[in-house]
Amino acid sequence: MQEVKSWVKSRIKQDEIDKYLENGRDFINDDEILEKIEKHKSPDREWVREIFQKALSINTLTPDETAALINVEDEDLIEEMKEVALQIKKKVYDNRIVTFAPLYLGDYCVNNCLYCGFRSDNQVIKRKVLSDEEILRETEELAGKIGHKRLILVYGEHPATDVEYIAKSLELVYSVKVKVRNGYGQIRRCNVNAAPLQIDELRRLVEVGIGTFQVFQETYHHETYNLVHPRNTIKGDYKWRLYCMHRALEAGVDDVGIGALFGLYDWRFEVMGLVYHARELESKFGIGPHTVSFPRLEPAANTPYIQEAKYRVSDKDFEKLILVLRLSIPYTGMILTAREPREIRDKVIHYGITQTDASTKIGIGAYSDRCSEQELERQQFLIGDTRTLDELIRDLAKFGYITSFCTAGYRCGRTGDLIMKLLKTGKEGQFCKLNAILTFKEWLLDYASNETQEVGDRLIQKELNEVKEKMPRVYDKLMEYYNRIENGERDLFF
Ligand code: SAM
Ligand code: SF4
Repeated sequence: MQEVKSWVKSRIKQDEIDKYLENGRDFINDDEILEKIEKHKSPDREWVREIFQKALSINTLTPDETAALINVEDEDLIEEMKEVALQIKKKVYDNRIVTFAPLYLGDYCVNNCLYCGFRSDNQVIKRKVLSDEEILRETEELAGKIGHKRLILVYGEHPATDVEYIAKSLELVYSVKVKVRNGYGQIRRCNVNAAPLQIDELRRLVEVGIGTFQVFQETYHHETYNLVHPRNTIKGDYKWRLYCMHRALEAGVDDVGIGALFGLYDWRFEVMGLVYHARELESKFGIGPHTVSFPRLEPAANTPYIQEAKYRVSDKDFEKLILVLRLSIPYTGMILTAREPREIRDKVIHYGITQTDASTKIGIGAYSDRCSEQELERQQFLIGDTRTLDELIRDLAKFGYITSFCTAGYRCGRTGDLIMKLLKTGKEGQFCKLNAILTFKEWLLDYASNETQEVGDRLIQKELNEVKEKMPRVYDKLMEYYNRIENGERDLFF
């Protein structure tokens, strides 16, 4: 107990906050945000259309422009916004969607966030940290049976899951290679969702090959933040959390993911906060967020705060906030999770979403524990969409989206500011189209059900025709790789 206490005390390094402050202040000015939202009530239609054009040329919007979009009520303009959102997505990411699965490694936590089932005060939660063996077993299931290539590893904040544990778990996950139908299964990219870390710790994670480092600010509104995160906890320090991406970029983590937990405060404010955050990173590091997440508050075991929360986001507002974010930070990846029910996912996927999860289980050890149904005492909240990866891929293919398992960008240095440039100019899309076709084919050969294979192959044929027509110079090389994959080779990429 004493050990945990002294660990907690050692976590926040004040100098790793202060160095980023300007005149002792952080970059979120609550009054300014509220004023802007108020000032741009009923924005002029012409101006709104100019903002659409700016977003379409892949330029980050100013807070005033985002505030204007937040205030668009006119149904026709909202319909236009949907089209713009999809066009932006197409321009930057083409028709590709990336899939991943969350892997929860431990639910011990020293914090006491009012809304989270893992909070330290919550006695009904069954606590567990995965052992080395269990990490390997979970990964074998994910990479071998289900066919995932990317994971997001999720940890509570606790000495039992400190940075050494995180580093070790990444190494263990990357070490798994399982024989599958025609090739082998392997996790090629591990993103991490953990508590804010110190600069040296982040360097350690770079050494073991962290993908995106993801931390959600939860709420950008200072007062609400202090209400839901008790002061005497690590998480009670707003600025330690707010500047964790500055530390990550300084430590050499190329890709950072920001997010807000929608439902703690007014969604409009959180959207503005995310835009301020993106602009701050762009201006200080020349790199904006690689991804933005926008989870909604979900019920958790023995967590009455959620039932009483007065800012819970309606489906209509949820749709709008996705659109506004898509337009405001046009180059970023947008993550929609299986927390959302299927009907919502099938609708908003067309608003410019780039990443989503499937076959999701968030109980600790639940992938390899076959008996486990969803149990609120073993997991953070309940999953809204329980579709398997195979089912989701098939549904996406029916919509015309190709699921990309490509991680080539990360392995040949297309990350950080380089990928930002490629994304902004639409050039990343070309490499990725080819790699998406190849990795999708691999997946169909190695994991797909007959039904998904059929739908998937039809989509691939369409994609190949498009490459032949629009990128004739690379077509022969693509077909060479494609045929080699059909003959059993794996992991060929441009
Ligand atoms: N402990 C780390 C932290 O807080 O950043 C990482 C793990 S935490 C389980 C990951 C995220 O889960 C949090 O950032 C929060 O946004 C989200 N979360 C917590 N409680 C939630 C709830 N009731 N519904 C939906 N998301 C929740
Ligand atoms: Fe712990 Fe994260 Fe849950 Fe807060 S949100 S209680 S920090 S796991």
